[in-house]
Amino acid sequence: MAEDVDRIDETGTDEEESEPEDEMPEDEPKKVEIKEPRRISLRSNPLGLILNIRMLRRVFQILAFIGINGYILLAWFRMPNVQAFWLSIWQNLPTLPILAPLEAPFGVIAGSFDTMIREFSTGIFPFFTIGAMLIIVVIFGRAGCGWICPIGTIQDLVTLPKRTKTRPTHGTETELRKVKAYVFVVVAFLAVWVGFSRLSGTAETLENALGAFVNDAFAPLNPAYILFVLLPDQLWPTSLDTLWYFSQWEWALLQMIFVIFVFFISFWIPRWFCRWLCPAGWFYGVFSRDALIGIARNPARCTPDTCNVCEVVCPMNIRIRKFPYKHMYSPDCIMCLDCKSHCPNNAIILKFS
Ligand code: SF4
Ligand code: SF4
Ligand code: SF4
Repeated sequence: MAEDVDRIDETGTDEEESEPEDEMPEDEPKKVEIKEPRRISLRSNPLGLILNIRMLRRVFQILAFIGINGYILLAWFRMPNVQAFWLSIWQNLPTLPILAPLEAPFGVIAGSFDTMIREFSTGIFPFFTIGAMLIIVVIFGRAGCGWICPIGTIQDLVTLPKRTKTRPTHGTETELRKVKAYVFVVVAFLAVWVGFSRLSGTAETLENALGAFVNDAFAPLNPAYILFVLLPDQLWPTSLDTLWYFSQWEWALLQMIFVIFVFFISFWIPRWFCRWLCPAGWFYGVFSRDALIGIARNPARCTPDTCNVCEVVCPMNIRIRKFPYKHMYSPDCIMCLDCKSHCPNNAIILKFS
């Protein structure tokens, strides 16, 4: 892959010839010398440093990160009443279209994908989980990925200091995006197979064969599982079995190395795990294309032949200019609104339909 990766400076030009993605209906916009992303003018807007979409999203992401793992704070500061209150809320919350494991000892909410896979593997059809996920995604698209998911948040924070991003050519990007769909198919197939085997009482051989993969085949490679289940199990063990140095320490070590690798690479390649590997993101994207809230471009303001700032700042590397003005319907859009806040002509609009 190394020779397929070209570097794009936020003030430079994508030099490599790109292949069109099959979902893009418009004519290829010209390659352009891009403009410097818009900066907030403190003279015209002294509060702009804090009152802007980017800052709002960062704050929301950090609060969501703390909230999702809020139980740890309550346990730490020994607040039993608040703990009980929080627990009662948690038991009635639906799952969210993010990546968050069910078993996280300090987690207060689980991801729809994680829950769905668990339910399939126990032989339950996840009506409620899928229904709640559909309602949220059909209204807000993948805003959960852009504003709430803790794994997305960590990748965004790691990327933040790096102004020069590394991006594959569009042909390579298109191929790499398919990987997450294959991961989803394998994980979902195994979960359904295990579920049926358990219902029919013939799961023993399968359980032995799948080992750590039996209840959720994605868990061993799921950064959220590693960070919010595996790691707390070492720091606050509830039994000797959860300590990796007593059981399966090789696996646990590999998983820790993998999660460090995911975030390390995010420094150069924004949201690479979301773009290429995450089966949950792919699943949510299937239903988010025609969400009620989406992105559009104002044709009277947008100048696609002389500007591509929105594409350069998009953490999901979406070719925004190739979509129709009235609807940017990429399943990879996480509604982060970075394109909107950087557009020099204020041409990106939120559409409600
Ligand atoms: S695609 Fe990224 S942000 Fe969305 S669920 Fe997966 S890890 Fe989270
Ligand atoms: S939407 Fe804005 S940033 Fe994107 S091409 Fe049009 S004018 Fe440029
Ligand atoms: S198209 Fe805009 S809102 Fe969607 S992911 Fe890219 S920058 Fe974020």
